[in-house]
Amino acid sequence: MRRTVFNEDHEAFRETIRDFIAAEVVPHYQEWSEQGYVPRELYRKLGALGVFGIEVPEEYGGAGETSFKFNAVLSEETARAGVSFGGSSVHTALCLPYLLKYGNEEQKKRWLPRFVSGETMTAIAMTEPGTGSDLAGMKTTAKLSEDGTHYVLNGAKTFITGGAQADRVLVCCRTAPPTPEDRRGGISILVVDAHSEGFAVGRKLDKLGLRASDTAELSFTDVEVPVEDLLGEEGKAFSYLTHNLPQERLGIAIGAYAQSAAAVRFAKEYTKERTVFGKEVASFQNTKFVLADCQSDVDAMQAVVDRALEALDAGELTPADAASAKLFTTERAAHVIDKCLQLHGGYGYMLEYPISSLYADTRVSRIYGGTSEVMRSIIAKSMGL
Ligand SMILES: Cc1cc2nc3c(=O)[nH]c(=O)nc-3n(C[C@H](O)[C@H](O)[C@H](O)COP(=O)(O)OP(=O)(O)OC[C@H]3O[C@@H](n4cnc5c(N)ncnc54)[C@H](O)[C@@H]3O)c2cc1C
Repeated sequence: MRRTVFNEDHEAFRETIRDFIAAEVVPHYQEWSEQGYVPRELYRKLGALGVFGIEVPEEYGGAGETSFKFNAVLSEETARAGVSFGGSSVHTALCLPYLLKYGNEEQKKRWLPRFVSGETMTAIAMTEPGTGSDLAGMKTTAKLSEDGTHYVLNGAKTFITGGAQADRVLVCCRTAPPTPEDRRGGISILVVDAHSEGFAVGRKLDKLGLRASDTAELSFTDVEVPVEDLLGEEGKAFSYLTHNLPQERLGIAIGAYAQSAAAVRFAKEYTKERTVFGKEVASFQNTKFVLADCQSDVDAMQAVVDRALEALDAGELTPADAASAKLFTTERAAHVIDKCLQLHGGYGYMLEYPISSLYADTRVSRIYGGTSEVMRSIIAKSMGL
């Protein structure tokens, strides 16, 4: 079916990104995956290309686009090539919406130009060693100093994408304890300078997939954070997270769709080349049926993400809509990519074939941004259950 969500500008951007990936990413990707992170130089190049400024208003050095569709193109093109841009999708798709919506004028002037150029990279730290799905259970605290000039931040975070390379981290923390009536109150976001005293990067975690993106532990010991770096209002951050998580979840859904489409393409190409018992693997009826099933799954995923993209741009994507899109696409992607790997035989298990890294990379999409179980809980609640 002809897609209607993208216009000429999106398609021109797609061409630019496709060329950039072929020239600047693919030749080095194996090396970056082995070292566990992408070089800072890549972020500067993405900044120079305008990738980080798409949704940033022009007065802060960006292009002032309001649509998430350019981000969708980025996600589709990286998946198509079986690569990633390290932590940069967190920088643009996760952190930026908070800075734009809740940052004041002074903060935007101070942070956004270097955000756009890639000189300042950002990460977001919600998850802690003791709590992930239950965010209200976070224990990291920020206490206002007696003279009211700064917060004193203490605690630890884990699984933070881009955490080792970030210059500023949006740290979710408790500025007031929970009450029995309101567990979600008292949470705030501080945009912490990662070079502050007491801010430490712990282990860079060794992961099953997404091996070119760094995932780190962070700890804070009496880190002094100026009050000027509080984002939005004190104690209101849980509602900010609720507001922004649908976009994050749609981003993950788009990635799952794009990875599935890439898997079908890889399997189709491979089975046309591979000969078994004197015949192309693609000529077996089983191969055709499996790939036909996978393609119809991909078509359904595409319909879901395209509809959700339009809803997001129209400001109508509800938390339950986003949860449903994420649940459906990530669960189907697991099935599709597994089937496509199977069609590769033993070669599908070898890292030199992109299907194997797709298989490992996609696994986390059912966990991060909220697990499938959490998505089911949100959907069930919206059904009045
Ligand atoms: C590669 C990677 C990158 C990440 N990047 C970031 C990042 O940049 N920033 C960040 O803050 N976090 C990040 N995360 C953390 C991620 O969001 C959490 O791992 C996720 O929210 C799940 O939390 P948890 O790991 O603590 O699991 P837990 O919450 O401990 O869940 C364990 C199990 O219990 C289930 N469960 C939980 N609640 C319920 C319930 N109510 N009903 C039924 N079952 C339930 C879960 O579904 C899961 O199966 C990342 C994680 C990974 C793996």
